[in-house]
Amino acid sequence: HFSLDIEIIPEEHGLKGEAKLRLRSGINGLKSFDFHLRPSLRVNSVKDENDNALVFSQNKVERIFPNSETSLVRVSLDQELSEGETVEIVASYDGIFYMPSDFDPKERRYNRAFSSVTKEAAWLRPVQLWYPYIANKSMPLTIRAKVPSEWTVITNGELESTAEENGKKIFVFQEGEISSLDIFLFAASYISKSKTIGDFHITAYFFPHHRDFLDPYIEKTEEILSFYTQKFGAPDAEKFNIIEIGMSYGTGTGAPFGYGISSHLINLDFPLIPHEIAHLWWGETVSYNLGEDTWLHEGLATFSDYCYRSEKAPDKKAKREVLFGLLNKAIPVGNPKTLSILEGGAKHAEGFLVYERAAFVVHTLKHILGEELFLKALRSYIEAFRSKKADTADFIRIVNSVSQKDLNWFFDYYLRGGRLPRYRVKSINIGGKVRGTLYQENVPKHFRMPLTLEFLTNKRSFRREVEVKGSKKKFNFDLEKGEVVSRVTIDPDFDVLGVSDILEDRWEARSLRLEAAEEKNFRQLESLLFSLSKKNPDNVHILHEVGQFYFAQQKWDKGIEIYKKIMSFEPDDFTFIALANIAAAYELMGDKKMQRLYLEKALAKGSSMYSIVR
Ligand SMILES: [Zn+2]
Repeated sequence: HFSLDIEIIPEEHGLKGEAKLRLRSGINGLKSFDFHLRPSLRVNSVKDENDNALVFSQNKVERIFPNSETSLVRVSLDQELSEGETVEIVASYDGIFYMPSDFDPKERRYNRAFSSVTKEAAWLRPVQLWYPYIANKSMPLTIRAKVPSEWTVITNGELESTAEENGKKIFVFQEGEISSLDIFLFAASYISKSKTIGDFHITAYFFPHHRDFLDPYIEKTEEILSFYTQKFGAPDAEKFNIIEIGMSYGTGTGAPFGYGISSHLINLDFPLIPHEIAHLWWGETVSYNLGEDTWLHEGLATFSDYCYRSEKAPDKKAKREVLFGLLNKAIPVGNPKTLSILEGGAKHAEGFLVYERAAFVVHTLKHILGEELFLKALRSYIEAFRSKKADTADFIRIVNSVSQKDLNWFFDYYLRGGRLPRYRVKSINIGGKVRGTLYQENVPKHFRMPLTLEFLTNKRSFRREVEVKGSKKKFNFDLEKGEVVSRVTIDPDFDVLGVSDILEDRWEARSLRLEAAEEKNFRQLESLLFSLSKKNPDNVHILHEVGQFYFAQQKWDKGIEIYKKIMSFEPDDFTFIALANIAAAYELMGDKKMQRLYLEKALAKGSSMYSIVR
């Protein structure tokens, strides 16, 4: 059992705590035990159940989590414990628990505060070690939190009671069983509103000046929850909270009982929330698993987010833009060999592997299986691992068994390999037919992929399916009388994780722009860039390169014009980049006021760059 008694002292950024732990020895002759705590929180005493003071040390050590200062506390026991014997320990600690979120002029962004106690709020995440942390434990939990009398506390479990004491308020929560890495606490002077749908409760806790956002956030959250529920089945939860975090420039965070979102991200674009809500399925219903299996929660949450946004896109063009945005993040420029998705998770390597690339693998799996079978597999996975951890092999086994296919070739290539396919097509018009070859590079012989080809002719556009196995596949389709094919587009709806012309055009635009930084033939490069942009009309990524091209020549007005054009398309995923670039241009022009204005707008979009791993 774990019992945590804390007091939050906002004006001092202070946190006082008393943690009561019952430990059971797993070995004979246990002499000491360890826990981790943030080093700014100092342990004052450790006592056993007979009130004997125990000897302990507290030393700063290497971080055990990213973004988290760490100290190791080693406690010596009075008597050795035999296997199965228990001892109850009370550890008292206090200190400053504060991470500022100040503006970093060099990085041109605000430093993120992952957890903090400020005058207006407390936001405590487990990886910032606000309580004595012992790895891989699961236990019943009682939390007693003392806060200023006008504050509300939201944490794990059910609220058992509240009381007043010397002008402060005390909240007591209890939870039946909780993992030692899952304890979150939010507290501030909140107003709140709830909605009950069947047995499910959604509650929003916002600061009073965000009163008008309570209803829109509850509605949006309900809409996203019901979208995911229709796809994946019911989640393992009876309630879901939306909690404003008081940091000026913090970010979003998932928690077992809802999500926290930073004040500056609360707006009617609802940034970050489709991803955070998806963790209710991928992370909470099926438990979080780290290392190699990180993609199972981050990849599936990112997939769910894009699935929601692409299905809600107002038209086909907007939907394509959403998926191209994901593809673009999934594949680095030039399609180099990378670490595999599993290695990326194990080595905490670049985030895109476990987020966007893994999401696109799942999206490709949907294409191969068809949506119905794909969703059946996901639902079976959830049912099989409700409240349990799953690993990659479990996921593959369930997909194979539900689909009655052997898709090991697919998972071996996409999850365990570092290459991605490249697609090209060559075709000619001959004798009333279009004949050609679809090439597939960087894949083993047995790798096969169904692909859509879109033919543009002088009369119409039409589509055909071609399955390519190994390096190439020939095709031969009838044309109408007098019809001539002028263009063939591979995978026009972005169903498959691989490289085709549009991505290469975007990379070429980038290399032209970089070339322009060194050479003087601007006119020629400008016209090449415009022809790429014309070939892929309204592609915001290519327009972005055109904008960068003008900035490189200090043609600020022309560059800003391009970014304003990008914004006129209201790209779901690209507005942040457009705004940040306009801000950068104003900075270089020496216009601090406009720079700040656009930067604030950009940060409020809550780009995925500002989301965090739990
Ligand atoms: Zn996430």
